[in-house]
Amino acid sequence: MSLRIKKGDTVKVIAGRDKGQSGKVIAVDPENELIKVENLNMVSRHHKGRSAQEQSDIIKMEGNINISNVMLVCPSCGKTTRIAAVEVDGKKHRSCKKCGFDIDAAKKAEKKPEGKKRATKTSTAEKTEKSSSRVKRTRKSDASKTE
Ligand SMILES: [Zn+2]
Repeated sequence: MSLRIKKGDTVKVIAGRDKGQSGKVIAVDPENELIKVENLNMVSRHHKGRSAQEQSDIIKMEGNINISNVMLVCPSCGKTTRIAAVEVDGKKHRSCKKCGFDIDAAKKAEKKPEGKKRATKTSTAEKTEKSSSRVKRTRKSDASKTE
């Protein structure tokens, strides 16, 4: 069985203590088919201090949730859905069975704007350099005029 849940997905818990709640997948253990969902299935870890500096406390952390106890929430239609495997450019993508939305294509699209922003910053810097050199040139001609 191919893994249908990936890190960064939004899932809804369909069984257990947090049934009905949804959250973002922060860790996936494909071998044991376990996942961790942000702020869900919180468990307490008792941490005992071994020195005077190290205090004993209780750390709350996300506990494992069995992958069969969650359903993927489609980022497009917002419904819990099953996955249809589709092939895009030779790569396997997951698409929503309810609306046909390509979930993995959407993830790539999210990353793209960052690169565009960086490119814009570079061009702006270049423009600033050019204009500043123009200013210098103007000053020089002004000075020669005064002389
Ligand atoms: Zn959908």
